[in-house]
Amino acid sequence: MDHVLNIADRVIFTPYVYPASWPEDGALRQIISLWVVTNLGAQLIYLGFGALSFYCVFDHKLMKHPQFVKNQVRREIQLGTSSIFWMSFPTVLLFFGEVRGYSKLYDNVNDSSLGWPRIFLSIAGFLFFTDMCIYWIHRYMHHKHIYKHLHKQHHIFKIPTPFASHAFHPLDGFLQSLPYHVYPFIFPLHKVVYLSLFIFVNIWTISIHDGDYRLPGPLICLINGAAHHVDHHLFFNYNYGQYFTLWDRLGNSYRHPSALLGRGPHDHIRKLMAETAQTQ
Ligand SMILES: [Zn+2]
Ligand SMILES: [Zn+2]
Repeated sequence: MDHVLNIADRVIFTPYVYPASWPEDGALRQIISLWVVTNLGAQLIYLGFGALSFYCVFDHKLMKHPQFVKNQVRREIQLGTSSIFWMSFPTVLLFFGEVRGYSKLYDNVNDSSLGWPRIFLSIAGFLFFTDMCIYWIHRYMHHKHIYKHLHKQHHIFKIPTPFASHAFHPLDGFLQSLPYHVYPFIFPLHKVVYLSLFIFVNIWTISIHDGDYRLPGPLICLINGAAHHVDHHLFFNYNYGQYFTLWDRLGNSYRHPSALLGRGPHDHIRKLMAETAQTQ
């Protein structure tokens, strides 16, 4: 985040926002700037890619499903934007730790003796680590004493749209995003790779809520796609994973997607429409 903060300082904050007497490396100034950048950046990714997915990928016929909630899209966006707003506060403290040099983020590929291979290994490590942690955090969110206080808000939406991707109780959203932020404090990671992965995970989260249940055959068993995740919204105790099905298989919570067995939300709508046509 120090690169992003430097650019924001040079282009906006130093010339137009802060008094010249306030140094760029002042702790309070850095925290305020990081909060603005994090909040605006996350809202832009959520609303921008969410809208793109909603208009270009999401099948609007799904809105005819009987479990599609009244005013659902508006409620998802309200919850999503307010969650990002509140989540930005604790997230900024972690970004502040990075900017102050407490993480293992590095700048140059050659800073590591392994060079480029390490970049690819760290991407694989990041995906494995965050997928594992999110699986267990998410599963814990379904514990009967926790669920109703936090995670239930995300499960109001049984047939999610891309805007449900960030529609969480802020504490739930923050806890599920924690593995992304903790990783660079434990393992070395290139700064640009980290920023790219942060954008990627946000887009991935949107994609598993986009209602496009297709997946290339060989990947169905490996990748946790929208078809898997809609079953999580519908049947709760299955498919807690984020990118892969690995931990659901190990944790005995894997469910083969109903949408790929001809029993998904689209099939339900088709059946209802056929029944209506018959009775008319
Ligand atoms: Zn859940
Ligand atoms: Zn979801």
